[in-house]
Amino acid sequence: MWTVEEGIDVLKESGAKITAQRIAVLEQLVGRTDHPSADTLYRELLEKYPTMSVATLYSTVQRLSEAGLLKILSIDDKRVYFDPVTVSHGHFMCRKCGRLIDVPLSREVFHLTADASAIAHIERTEVFMYGVCRDCFDD
Ligand code: ZN
Ligand code: MN
Repeated sequence: MWTVEEGIDVLKESGAKITAQRIAVLEQLVGRTDHPSADTLYRELLEKYPTMSVATLYSTVQRLSEAGLLKILSIDDKRVYFDPVTVSHGHFMCRKCGRLIDVPLSREVFHLTADASAIAHIERTEVFMYGVCRDCFDD
């Protein structure tokens, strides 16, 4: 897990100007495990920073993502979710309540078999699972 200071370093290295808005985005994301959507994150930020722009939010998350500090999850075709937890794990989405749950996966899941020899280098792997969560299943 990265710190706000490390996030600032990444933004600086990527050539981004360090502004109060960008720092606010980092502070709002750091340490979270609840996968806020872009809409949710923007609404939270607006409460504290009424002048926050969507463009700043998107450029900041994009730069963090390119630096490997943030995953932009496209598990849902309606919206994207942000995950600052960069250690390998999969995600499960409940089709009834829409909950997004972290899924611990064994390393074997990420291992290539011999017939994948056409691939030279993998830069990003995402595992998305869909079904019904325990709470919805028990109802
Ligand atoms: Zn559910
Ligand atoms: Mn996650």
